[in-house]
Amino acid sequence: MSFDSLGLAEPLLKAIADAGYSTPTPIQSQAIPAVLQGGDLMAGAQTGTGKTAGFTLPLLHRLAAQKPVRDARGRIVIRALVLTPTRELAAQVEESVRLYGKYLPLTSMVMFGGVGMQPQIDRLRKGVDILVATPGRLLDHAQQGTLDLSHVQILVLDEADRMLDMGFIHDIKKVLALLPQKKQSLLFSATFSDDIKALADRLLNQPALIEV
Ligand code: AMP
Repeated sequence: MSFDSLGLAEPLLKAIADAGYSTPTPIQSQAIPAVLQGGDLMAGAQTGTGKTAGFTLPLLHRLAAQKPVRDARGRIVIRALVLTPTRELAAQVEESVRLYGKYLPLTSMVMFGGVGMQPQIDRLRKGVDILVATPGRLLDHAQQGTLDLSHVQILVLDEADRMLDMGFIHDIKKVLALLPQKKQSLLFSATFSDDIKALADRLLNQPALIEV
């Protein structure tokens, strides 16, 4: 199996080649076609399996296939939201978004707590297609009215089990309430507890199931 057969756009294949990847990992060869089809996904995958590229590549492909969405002021608004449990993971995921998206005209931003709000507000004002965030700081912005999530088309919950372990379930539910009902949702988790299954039942619509 090669990346060429998965249906990804040429700019993504070029970035993959630059990264030195020759073969998709098992999670990638299953998740990429499933996400490209537009359906929901529930994937069991540990760190180190290549799960980040597994959702980032098809997410970039789908966003690049359409024009950016702009608000009344002409500012590009968020079409994809990735939630992660920690700052470190948020920063890593956004780095991957930049790496794989380097030949595409899409913009991304990472947002987490423990740093000033104002630089984040300034960055949002410049326009963002893809936001990678931890739940708490995301809600701080939403409450201040500095964040428009009403055009989100793709939602990713990365390491969902860790988010629940860290007590983020209420924050996640609040974030979900800010998103459009109709969207593509992808849930990645290393384990499938009853709590994760309950979250999946609430969020996902006839998801493809992948376990590696
Ligand atoms: P992740 O599980 O997403 O944290 O990725 C683990 C590591 O695998 C990262 O350092 C990636 O750069 C690397 N990686 C992801 N996909 C591939 C691939 N298809 N071939 C080789 N390395 C990869």
